[in-house]
Amino acid sequence: ALLARDLRHGFAGSDVLHGVSLEVRSGEVVAVTGPSGSGKSTLLHLLGGLDTPQSGEVWWAGERVDTLSTQARAGRRAGRVGLVFQHHYLLEDLTVAQNVQVPALLAGQDGAARAHDLLARVGLAERGRDLPGVLSGGERQRVAVARALATRPAVVLADEPTGSLDRANAERVAALLLDLARQEGAGVLLVTHDDRVAARADRALHLLDGRIGEAVGL
Ligand code: ATP
Ligand code: MG
Repeated sequence: ALLARDLRHGFAGSDVLHGVSLEVRSGEVVAVTGPSGSGKSTLLHLLGGLDTPQSGEVWWAGERVDTLSTQARAGRRAGRVGLVFQHHYLLEDLTVAQNVQVPALLAGQDGAARAHDLLARVGLAERGRDLPGVLSGGERQRVAVARALATRPAVVLADEPTGSLDRANAERVAALLLDLARQEGAGVLLVTHDDRVAARADRALHLLDGRIGEAVGL
């Protein structure tokens, strides 16, 4: 579902990624761990096509996308790649249910029933008519996860999707992402500091010094 080859990237004065390669197959959940500042979010932005790597390749479902224009890449992303950002951006003037439905509408699907189902699965069945402004941080995070899954994407990239959640809700979100991979064949890559979440993934990768290795001890 997702392939990266020898990604190198950095910012003025700092090299962050020194040749990262990884593959996430359909139906597979891969966790990425690593210290703060090690480049996990940078990697996710490259994999999601939000930034262009200085060198290396990114492939979605057999198609190379790092060489496409930003606009063409956004077109390919719609409906196929679901993103959960570390700092989740909800549309404050739309209801919770509408926020979850937006990606589906943009991809030309209705998505209302799916939005309802996803909200129930993250424990927010009763909050669909609320505006995001009245939600807690953890509730907003669960809305962002539901929204990323709205279009049944082939690839899901999630940055700390359980970061501000209590144990029960972290379990719920982890279970939802695992189910999505198992039932819908999505390839899921999630960045997490939570060892219990990482342990539930099929594989865990550790990002250190700009390179990736298999995590041991999980
Ligand atoms: P955390 O666990 O704290 O979220 P992270 O592993 O996600 O950390 P990144 O956000 O990828 O780390 O940042 C990696 C390094 O790249 C940091 O040193 C950061 O300061 C730097 N960096 C990230 N984005 C930018 C940017 N847009 N401009 C300049 N430097 C950046
Ligand atoms: Mg980060």
